Amino acid sequence: MQSEVLINEDRIRERVLQLAAQIDCDYDDKIPILVGVLKGSFIFLSDLVRLLKIKHQVDFLTVASYDGGLTSTGIVRLVSDLSVNIEGRHVLIVEDIIDTGLTTDYILKNLQTRNPASLEFVVLLNKQECRKIDVPVKYSGFEIPDQFVVGYGLDYNQYYRNLPYIARL
Ligand code: 5GP
Repeated sequence: MQSEVLINEDRIRERVLQLAAQIDCDYDDKIPILVGVLKGSFIFLSDLVRLLKIKHQVDFLTVASYDGGLTSTGIVRLVSDLSVNIEGRHVLIVEDIIDTGLTTDYILKNLQTRNPASLEFVVLLNKQECRKIDVPVKYSGFEIPDQFVVGYGLDYNQYYRNLPYIARL
């Protein structure tokens, strides 16, 4: 694979630290539940939660819209659900990347029906120019152009998740 570093380890670490500080401040008097959207968010989530100072809980859900390739099928499905009841809870969804916004919109609509006290999104990478549907993202790490990226949890055909930086294919 030919790849080129887009965001190096230092920049990722610095930005995740800033996001954690902002979340600490905003959720100071709350006990949020951070929901990692698998699989792509697993490294981002694990770095983020280790930098948080506030009391919080962690859970996961799995959604799929890619079938291993470079483009989304546009059809989002829930592969595995949360393990806890989020009614009345402050929920912070942690995503790796937002592209069209279809996945985020699906998660938003699905989880809103469960009556959380609040529901916000923290996303590491944002491809704003690819958006097909407007989604409210409270915390965004980096704006990136319309290019397929891998590393720091993001895959191509399930490979390259272990790269410590974000690279474009
Ligand atoms: P959306 O529904 O916003 O179009 O896409 C969200 C999902 O598509 C992400 O959670 C991720 O799984 C996948 N995705 C979108 N863009 C990229 C990319 O550049 N690289 C990788 N590896 N996955 C992507």
